[in-house]
This record gives sequence, structure tokens and C-alpha cells, in this order.
Amino acid sequence: QNSFSSDETPVRWVRINTLLISENEFFTKHKFFAGLKRVDTIESLEQGSLYKDTFVPHLYGIHPKEKITSTEAYRKGHVIIQDRASCFPAHILNSDKEHKHKFVVDACSAPGNKTTHIASLIDQNSSNSCVFAFERDNKRVETLNKMSKIACPHKFGALIKVTHADFTSVDPSDYESVTGLIVDPSCSGSGIFGRAVEDEQTKEEVDSERLRRLSSFQYKIMKHALSFPSAKRVVYSTCSIHMEENEEVVSDLLNDETIKSLGWELAKRDQVVPSWPRRGISDAFRGISADEDERKALAEGCIRFVPREDMGIGFFAACFIRS
Ligand code: SAM
Repeated sequence: QNSFSSDETPVRWVRINTLLISENEFFTKHKFFAGLKRVDTIESLEQGSLYKDTFVPHLYGIHPKEKITSTEAYRKGHVIIQDRASCFPAHILNSDKEHKHKFVVDACSAPGNKTTHIASLIDQNSSNSCVFAFERDNKRVETLNKMSKIACPHKFGALIKVTHADFTSVDPSDYESVTGLIVDPSCSGSGIFGRAVEDEQTKEEVDSERLRRLSSFQYKIMKHALSFPSAKRVVYSTCSIHMEENEEVVSDLLNDETIKSLGWELAKRDQVVPSWPRRGISDAFRGISADEDERKALAEGCIRFVPREDMGIGFFAACFIRS
């Protein structure tokens, strides 16, 4: 999800891992990063320069030809390569002004980019606050453990509690303290470029049967997340560009009687990175309202990234809230 080759994107995104180091210390300690020239626009990035993102805290854009992986900062886990779009879910979950989460769930965690990001943002004043990270796949759960250990070795197993399990089989009543969830399920990956998946897709469009299967799985896993008893915010995301996996899943969830009865609504634009300009597709909300303005308002609550054009992968994010 996070690797580009230099001819495919003008920028590579790196997140300072504040679990291990503050931003100030980072630039004092790591001369390579401190030595880069600051530029004000992504477009003016070139080798030897650094751009500070205006949407996600502690995130920087760097020229893809820079050899970040050979820096001490990378080896020590002080910096994590993570696409900007992929940083939005944890940032959205954390932007609830009324509530600072202490206990959160990451439903689909491996390799762990969003897990380690949200772990750095939860309220750690409470001694036992943590991220419950679920992963179903045997191999990927190992990668998740490895990444969690690199990102927070001092609190390994405490701040991030990894469970190798199918999230839909987890009993929500065992997690009464959880107030926030991130659900980033398997998807078609149609927003990802620079990997074989994109070439396959241009040759052979993702077929509608596959999209149907994926979206019904995405719906199911989201519905499970929305049944957590104390949950106040659930962020849904995919790296797909298809409306079927994105706005339509959201629309179907909003139409679900159980979900309505639990008090869930779609967060409005002002609660979901309002300054990000590219929002959802309103047509997908036809099943919810005949009123065009209402459909537009729902779409405004969703976030989209167009691959390359928005300086990274194609992505979608939306947030369910209740008081
Ligand atoms: N959130 C991850 C990150 O930012 O690094 C990427 C997640 S990836 C898109 C989806 C992951 O969900 C895969 O590792 C997949 O094995 C896992 N997964 C799929 N279905 C699951 C389920 N029912 N329960 C737990 N994990 C699941």
C-alpha cells in the first residue's frame, strides 16, 4: 500500500513515529531529515527537500528518490513510510473534539500502519489504554506483530494488543471500554498503483461479481463494528476507487434498520477533515434520499483521493458517529 517507484509519484509520505520520538527531537537527532530544504508546496518537492503536510500532523512529503530506508531514523522506527491517504483514518478517529479515545479497535490491522498511527494518538494518560488489533491472516499477523514491535518496543503487547482472529467472530460485549474503531477491510485495491494489481485491473476490469462479494463482506464487517456497545466513532476506509465498495457500502449501512436504531449517523463534512477538498459521490445516496441537497450533504461527509492526482494512492474514508 505504501511503496511507489520514483517514476510513478512525485512524493513519498513519511510519518514521524511520535510513540518513540517527538517531532522536535526527530529533527535534532536525524541530520539527514534536518538537512532537507523545506518547501511550501508539494509541487516544488525535489531531491534534497521536504514538505510538511497541512492535513495530517507529523506527516512529511519527500522526493521518492531519497533513500529513506537506509536512514537511521527508518531503521530505528522513528519514521514510518505511510501514504498520506492511509493516515486519514486514524486522524479522523482522533479528531473528535468532545472525546479522546482510550480504547480503540483496529478491525483489519496488518501490516499495521493505521494501528501504530492510532496508537500514537489515543489518550495514554490512562495507564491501560490500548489498541485492540485484529488480523485474520496467519502470515500477515506476523508482519503486524513485527511492525508493532518496531513502532513501540517499550510497550509491546501493552499499547497494541494483537489478536489473530476473524474480527466478525469477536464478541463486542467483551469490549465495553472501546469507544472508537477503524475498519479498513480487504478491498479490490483499485486505488493502488505501482504494483501488479493495477496492471491486472487495466487489462481486465474488476468484474462486478467480485465487487459484489467484496462489498457484502465490507458491509458485514462494518455492521459488526457498529454493534460495539460503547462505540461513538467508527471510521471506514478502503484503497478502492469503486463506488460499490465505498459510498454504496456507506449508503446501505445508513439504510439498515438495526444500525439506524442504534443511533448511528454519517459524520458531516465539518467533522471529517473539512479542509480536504475532494469529497464523495452523491449519486450513491439515491437509496437514502430523493433530495439532491441531502445526497450532496452525505457525500460531503465522505473523503476521496484520486490516485496520483492527489499525490498518492486512490482512497476512500467515511466516519459513522453517535452521541
Ligand atoms: N489497516 C492496514 C494498514 O493500514 O496497514 C491494512 C489492512 S488491509 C487493507 C486488510 C487486512 O484485513 C488484511 O490484512 C486482511 O487479512 C485482514 N482481514 C480481512 N478480513 C478480516 C477479518 N474478518 N478479520 C480480521 N482481519 C481481516
